[in-house]
Amino acid sequence: MAKIGINIATGSLQQPEMIVGIDLGTTNSLVAIIHPETKLPTALKEFDGSSIVPSVVHFDAFGNVEVGAAAKPYLETDPTNTIFSAKRLMGKSYNDIQTHQDFFAYKIIDDNNDSLVKVQVGNQFYSPIELSAHILTALKNRAEHILKTPVNKAVITVPAYFNDGQRKATREAGRLAGFDVLRIINEPTAASLAYGIGLQRSGSTRVAVYDLGGGTFDISVLEITDGVFEVLSTHGDTHLGGDDFDQCIVKHWIATAGLPAGFATEHQSALRVLAEQAKCALSQLPVFTGNIDEFQFGISRAEFESLIHPLVIRTLDACQRALIDAGCGIQQIDEVVLVGGSTRVPAVINQVSAFFNRSVRHNLDPDQVVALGAAIQADILAGNNQATLLLDVTPLSLGIETAGGLMDVLIPRNTKIPFKVAREYTTSV
Ligand code: ADP
Ligand code: MG
Repeated sequence: MAKIGINIATGSLQQPEMIVGIDLGTTNSLVAIIHPETKLPTALKEFDGSSIVPSVVHFDAFGNVEVGAAAKPYLETDPTNTIFSAKRLMGKSYNDIQTHQDFFAYKIIDDNNDSLVKVQVGNQFYSPIELSAHILTALKNRAEHILKTPVNKAVITVPAYFNDGQRKATREAGRLAGFDVLRIINEPTAASLAYGIGLQRSGSTRVAVYDLGGGTFDISVLEITDGVFEVLSTHGDTHLGGDDFDQCIVKHWIATAGLPAGFATEHQSALRVLAEQAKCALSQLPVFTGNIDEFQFGISRAEFESLIHPLVIRTLDACQRALIDAGCGIQQIDEVVLVGGSTRVPAVINQVSAFFNRSVRHNLDPDQVVALGAAIQADILAGNNQATLLLDVTPLSLGIETAGGLMDVLIPRNTKIPFKVAREYTTSV
């Protein structure tokens, strides 16, 4: 029987505790829940209808922090104090990110190459964990504001290729934000769950999850057997996404619009913003026109598609490699799921479906799929969804180093967790 708490101070009945699902994205983040009445996974929306929170953190001179839509404009006006893509730094040392240093407009500390990176803002230093915690705190406050109830428990998603250190860092960020992080789950697993794939308890299904976000591309091949999700392979490109589509349009305009000297440099950010608008409009309409000052800029969907064609081909090459690593052909893939805002581009949908030679799943909002799946997992953990039993496995074998430098495996990889084992050892020296 369910227990119902009573708030002694107010005398009101307490709602059963809400566990939220969080997609902590490189570009955008969001929170979803299982709606208490409709029982459907639902992304939390502001009054203005927006569910996504840009993963941007701005610090002003007084140390005040702003996150999300309020922080985004500072990317242009105050770039050194505005942190974006903090997720790329999670669990990384300076050595890891050195070759992409130019990508970040803010200062990354490079005095100790091997230790974990820190970001310098003014005379303060922030770890990627603290930066992610700021985003998670904003999400928590927002969720509490919308739901009008405290929100303390969460399931947070991470890319399938995140290693143990990066997963721990994400968990720690959640803890700093005041969450009890019940589970860290893989983004492609969450996306599959959102489509109801893998919720049936018997049989085996292979799913390819194609995730094209703002700055990153991931392809994962999953095998789900009796409710256990196993990542067979992952591939991708950590510097390929919708932002590159925007850049293609900007370059095209600069090359063809006959702009006066200096215009492009002076209006760099306006061009980028207009290009993103054009791209999003072209997902619906055949042509786009807009202007900056008295200059008109136009582009057709056909032109846009030919500009991004080489980038889309690169994603398909990665899909090919992922299939090879997974040891399966296109025929062995049962489902293809599209995730990420950039999969709204019709040419992407068409080319991915042509590559896999099947219709692909893209009817859910691609910005929300991962968060919706996290909410489903949260609901399962809350014990509300008795029909399904979602099992997780350890991706690596766990063991102990014994005499002679050998590893004595205690828990083999792909063991269903939680799992407990005990073995007795004696000292050899
Ligand atoms: P991430 O997973 O990296 O946080 P998202 O999945 O939120 O990113 O994807 C963000 C990207 O999706 C941005 O580049 C944005 O411009 C793009 N995007 C959003 N809506 C559309 C649309 N209608 N058409 C094309 N691209 C879109
Ligand atoms: Mg994403």
